[in-house]
Amino acid sequence: ATTEVSNFLRQIIDHDCHSQTYSNRTDSDGRPLPSVITRFPPEPNGYLHIGHAKSIFLNFGLARDYAHAINGARCHMRFDDTNPAKEETEYVNTILESVQWLGFNWVYGDQTCLYYASDYFDLLYQFAELLIQEGKAYIDSQSADQIHKSRGNFIDLGTNSPFRDRSVAENLALFREMKAGKFQDGEHVLRLKIDMSHPNLVMRDPVIYRIRHAHHHRTGDKWCIYPLYDFTHCISDALERVTHSICTLEFENNRPLYEWILNALCDAGVLPAPLPHQYEFARLNLTYAITSKRKLLQLVQDHHVDGWNDPRMPTLVGLRRRGFTPKSLQLFCERIGVSKADSWIEMSVLEQALRDDLDPSAHRAVAVMKPLKLVIDNFDQAPELCSAPIHPHLEDLGRREFYLTKELWIEADDFMQEPVKGFFRLFPPINGQPGNRVRLRYGFVIECTGFDLGADGQVVAVHANYFPDSKSGTEGANTYKVKGNIHWLSVADALPAEIRVYDRLFTDPNPTGGDKDFLDFLNPKSKSVIQAYVDPSLANANPEQSFQFERHGYYVADQFDHSKATPVFNLSVGLKDTWKK
Ligand code: ATP
Ligand code: MG
Ligand code: MG
Repeated sequence: ATTEVSNFLRQIIDHDCHSQTYSNRTDSDGRPLPSVITRFPPEPNGYLHIGHAKSIFLNFGLARDYAHAINGARCHMRFDDTNPAKEETEYVNTILESVQWLGFNWVYGDQTCLYYASDYFDLLYQFAELLIQEGKAYIDSQSADQIHKSRGNFIDLGTNSPFRDRSVAENLALFREMKAGKFQDGEHVLRLKIDMSHPNLVMRDPVIYRIRHAHHHRTGDKWCIYPLYDFTHCISDALERVTHSICTLEFENNRPLYEWILNALCDAGVLPAPLPHQYEFARLNLTYAITSKRKLLQLVQDHHVDGWNDPRMPTLVGLRRRGFTPKSLQLFCERIGVSKADSWIEMSVLEQALRDDLDPSAHRAVAVMKPLKLVIDNFDQAPELCSAPIHPHLEDLGRREFYLTKELWIEADDFMQEPVKGFFRLFPPINGQPGNRVRLRYGFVIECTGFDLGADGQVVAVHANYFPDSKSGTEGANTYKVKGNIHWLSVADALPAEIRVYDRLFTDPNPTGGDKDFLDFLNPKSKSVIQAYVDPSLANANPEQSFQFERHGYYVADQFDHSKATPVFNLSVGLKDTWKK
């Protein structure tokens, strides 16, 4: 169950359900159509990113939450694949996987609602001919540059093309020749005949078809003319009987064109009423992250990251590998809400959503990141069995067991030769004062007695004595009051593991703002790989299983590289928001 956070789109849909705007429709076979149909329409030209997650949770989420509407609700999975040059099947597959990973699918009963705009190429072409026949479209033979210049701007009105008054017969003949491959790229385009002095630049005779001799990932070489977004999108929505077509704010100016095209085709009797409506919401802008597929592609192609699924990438495959869960992304999207005003969301909001998802369930374990040897000189007994809860609030999970031995690994940072003020962990006897005492978590209290230096003056081992009556969970434990509480692993049992420590990919919260070059702001320290020791039970971790490494943060067993023989864990997020500018 999810919390349904109200937003302006829900209010619109509530109203449409109440007044039955879309409730009495049937498909071409006479079957009732849902009163709410949304769609998620990515272009298969890259991997989905965190911004797409907002759109997925919105569109598929609405379909899920309005299942009770008359005839139910659906969200269509549609590929907006009208630009042959940049689109690939690899992208189609990863997009479908990511949507499913987030917990959605496009199968409703016996209806599989997976669509491709390219499946409409024949119909789109027929509709274009129809508009030519109605005198609503013409072939322009100006260059792209001329077309751009004659469009005018906010101050200057546009000027009519010298080809604007071609006869219907000539337009039709030329359009058919375009389709037949008689012309080179750019020789002609098809434009709508709307109004070159319209205050909205989008309405100044927009181009709806262009010549592109290019191979399409689905239609192959069948077409050498391709419809543009503004023409394709609204018609795809209408053909699929979409009710609420939700897109990002930058398409607000395109809405009158969306309506113009659909009304023209509805008036001509080729599209059914009631027509879909376009609504706009604010896109997600996330600090320290890039949400442009083109720029993400550049990071991959120029090897600034290790592929689309590099755990530093804001792609859904990258976030997944970093240890983000579908639930955490849902929580994030619920918290940021849906509005009509552009804003920036702090990366820390995303990170907190992950902590809030993992904290109640992630198993606890121990990792020693910077190992330093601790020798308990008075420990001459057999290994002592100790145990710790697998989760402090989930007793049913039981306890993990491990042995305390004479030689342990502790964090190098938990010892200081000369303690700074306020340091409560291990330090040796100084000026006649005894060394400091700490508790070895779930074990005994120890007192530091000294340390060994290596040839290069580095501390190579710390020495201590333990208090046999101080074991955690025993009565004697309470008589020892210590301020430090450190984690440890037995040298005999500790499992070597690779830990990949990730930090933000950029040093600037908005690396693409203004005329900045985002590559100038790559964080050189965004990835470091360390050899650490982990709890031996972690050999049995499943890839993608998340853990809280006590005192360190949340780590996930790598989706691809982790195995029993070669344990690999990725830092997902620290325990607290300690990140400083
Ligand atoms: P890009 O410019 O990076 O290629 P796009 O918006 O063109 O991104 P599409 O694949 O066309 O990417 O997007 C599919 C859907 O996801 C669209 O409906 C779009 O509105 C939505 N979407 C894309 N980016 C964001 C974002 N940052 N926030 C919210 N929704 C987004
Ligand atoms: Mg797009
Ligand atoms: Mg785009």
